[in-house]
Amino acid sequence: MAITLVPNELDTDQALALVGELRSVFATGRTKSLEWRRRQLQGLIRLLQENEKELATALSTDLGKPAMNCFLGEISPPLAEARYALKNLTSWNKKSPAAVPMSFAPAKAWTQPEPKGVVLVVAPWNFPVLLCLAPLANALAAGNAVVIKPSEMAPAVSAVLARLVPRYIDPDAVKIVEGGVQTTTALLEARWDHILYTGSGRIGRIVLAAAAKHLTPVTLELGGKSPAIVTTHADIAVTARRLAWAKVTAAGQACVAPDYVLVESPVRAAFIEALMDEVGTADRFAETTRIIDERNTARLTTLLTDHGGIEAVAGGPRTDGTFAPAVIVDPDPSSKMMQEEIFGPILPVIEVENLHAAIDFINRREKPLALYLFSAAAEDEETVLTRTSSGSVGVNHIYYQTMLPELPFGGIGESGMGAYHGKTGFETFSHRKSVLRKPASLDPSFAYPPFSSMMQRIMRFMAR
Ligand code: NAD
Repeated sequence: MAITLVPNELDTDQALALVGELRSVFATGRTKSLEWRRRQLQGLIRLLQENEKELATALSTDLGKPAMNCFLGEISPPLAEARYALKNLTSWNKKSPAAVPMSFAPAKAWTQPEPKGVVLVVAPWNFPVLLCLAPLANALAAGNAVVIKPSEMAPAVSAVLARLVPRYIDPDAVKIVEGGVQTTTALLEARWDHILYTGSGRIGRIVLAAAAKHLTPVTLELGGKSPAIVTTHADIAVTARRLAWAKVTAAGQACVAPDYVLVESPVRAAFIEALMDEVGTADRFAETTRIIDERNTARLTTLLTDHGGIEAVAGGPRTDGTFAPAVIVDPDPSSKMMQEEIFGPILPVIEVENLHAAIDFINRREKPLALYLFSAAAEDEETVLTRTSSGSVGVNHIYYQTMLPELPFGGIGESGMGAYHGKTGFETFSHRKSVLRKPASLDPSFAYPPFSSMMQRIMRFMAR
């Protein structure tokens, strides 16, 4: 019997029934066929191509995002994921042979991927289309049934996805479940075969604890304070422009936004001057994204009142819900601004003596989701890559390292666990099964105990 979803929140019984329903669909085996997977990926591509305007309108309602940013940040990346999966599906799904030693002969060994089963994707509000549909592309490529829980804080996008997805993608195998904390809590009671959660570490811990009850594997895409280092070998004008653009885009509400800048002493003054110019004229980026709600506006405003640094550019809330970008020089490292993820258009700049001091500063803190280095020197790059640990690194630019399906996307430590995008996403939602086959036709008695002393010597020799 089909489940009628309540419009507001799901209770545990409904969540369990929903998963049961998807489990029966998965058990028919239809999601496993490559043909089904291709049709769903093609459906997802058409959904994104045919409804860009509608999705952009919803994104504008929820967040005030400009249309071109919607295309670049929300439509184009899941499109690229779906297209890339479609192109590579056959090769990803192939058996992969494993070498068999002489002592095992005759035998054939290989691995082959199989879908994990019924998976849950829980998404946040900041890139509400991308963070629902890019994991969906990966999960469909791997042949899973999927439940997506969009964020209740982006209700217009959530409603559009709930309406559009069943029109383009097998509605029995993929469900969009709208709702808030109660719904997510109910969904987390159920047994899933994988959960991909994107959001804060606080909720990530709740998800991980719920998954532990069922030994469900989890991918956690979290956030944190992503640093940018500016060395004396940086192109200062370009660096300032890129950092200003990145911090203003989506009003800094991006998990991989540069959270703060560490600048080497000799270029401090020049960099701050260039940054002040760029941020002072940030309106030319035509960014209109609002801070998601009043609570977050108040949080950002508080950060600006108590940091112990110098206001190089004084930002703050505007009446239209946007937030004028701010640059704060040398804030107190113990201030909230330097302790919590900023997630808004405020950029602290801290002077460091040299690259080693910058690296020490970063390594004394949690491992970030992204780390940015601005330098033309190969030795700076080598030093940073070998002496720091982060989910990803962008050298001389921001965000681009997260947008290629060829590169896995994920954090480490406090910034997350596991990864997705491209082939890594396919593998995240697959189980790689090991198989070994021996013919029954050859079954000599000397292969069984008790072993003769000659056989023992041969076995020991072959095991070497
Ligand atoms: P959030 O954790 O508050 O919400 C995300 C999801 O969790 C929502 O769908 C919500 O319904 C659910 N949720 C909220 N409270 C819950 C509870 N008590 N129990 C169960 N589920 C609950 O995150 P957010 O504020 O929406 O997003 C901001 C954070 O996400 C930032 O830290 C940011 O860096 C991070 N983020 C990470 C990535 C990434 O890909 N790594 C992307 C975007 C955002």
